[in-house]
Amino acid sequence: MEIKITETTTPKIMPKESELGFGQYFTDHMLIVDYDVDKGWHNARIVPFGNISLHPASTVLHYGAEIFEGLKAYRTAEGDIQLFRPLENIKRMNTSAERMCLPLLDEGEAMNMLRTFVKLEEKWVPHSFGTSLYLRPYMFGNDETLGVHTVKRATFMIIASPSGSYYKEGINPVKIMIEKDDVRTVRGGTGYAKCGGNYAASTRAGERAGKKGYSQVLWLDGVERKYVEEVGAMNVMFKIDGEIVTPELTGSILPGITRKSCIEVLKKLGYKVSERLLSVDELMDAIKCGKLDEAFGCGTAAVVSPIGRLMYNDVEYVINDEKIGEVTQKLYDVLTGIQWGRVDDEFGWVEKI
Ligand SMILES: *Cc1c(COP(=O)(O)O)cnc(C)c1O
Repeated sequence: MEIKITETTTPKIMPKESELGFGQYFTDHMLIVDYDVDKGWHNARIVPFGNISLHPASTVLHYGAEIFEGLKAYRTAEGDIQLFRPLENIKRMNTSAERMCLPLLDEGEAMNMLRTFVKLEEKWVPHSFGTSLYLRPYMFGNDETLGVHTVKRATFMIIASPSGSYYKEGINPVKIMIEKDDVRTVRGGTGYAKCGGNYAASTRAGERAGKKGYSQVLWLDGVERKYVEEVGAMNVMFKIDGEIVTPELTGSILPGITRKSCIEVLKKLGYKVSERLLSVDELMDAIKCGKLDEAFGCGTAAVVSPIGRLMYNDVEYVINDEKIGEVTQKLYDVLTGIQWGRVDDEFGWVEKI
């Protein structure tokens, strides 16, 4: 598919790298592709960044037909730009699309769109270690009718936002509250799909935790409310009695690319890694017997986020003296090293632009 490029005549200026934050600024352009059942994907174009217009009955506004991805473009010390396992994001977007009755993308074409777009927005990839150009591919149903069915029209877009370092003030372990009321998703639901609806439904618990001084919640499964699933919008890992334990992908957990990468790095380093059910009782027992050495979230935004305190049933437990653990630090060093091109990419994960 040919991508028609209309460049902006009023390019913006990149804010100072130290003031970027997350998701506040957007680049000069955006990529848009239309879909309809008769023509398939067509009219791929990159146009100046700006508002889009939707029919008031557009499916996405009423029935939440929306999925997205999140990945980063990194600048190496030599000044090159690279992506981290981008095909994994495209494959996951198709898994999400299938779940939400949205059309699938051709992997090769989607890769080409991503590359073409990043290349055009090259100057927006910041230079300092820890900063990146955050890429947000997304897709939504766009039928102009209130009927409920598999969409006949959809739109795929990519926007990008230069982002600051997640750890400007160093890696500080966070306080997490185990959530007992709300659930994020259920098996058979949309937990494994990266869809906007999951976020809308899980914001409330995060806000409530925030009011109590916690930075996020630890989700339990929606059926038995017993098994640990994720932390906020990150996957979660624990080091219990020398072994790394992470919840298995039961269908209600998002299959994170950072999660997958952590598992591969840990196995290569010789750690025992188990993907299995982990009950909150087992976790509490491990804490009480002094066998929980480390706990951390993992995801593209933070890479890893150590958990320093865990609140359950009104009791707060301190983990690893509220310090980042050895395994967590190692994963951070290896993954960020590969992403920002500071260490050898022995896994073949990065793709140069
Ligand atoms: C995106 C996401 C993750 C992390 O996935 P990565 O591919 O590692 O960024 C974890 N949990 C949820 C709910 C997510 O939406």
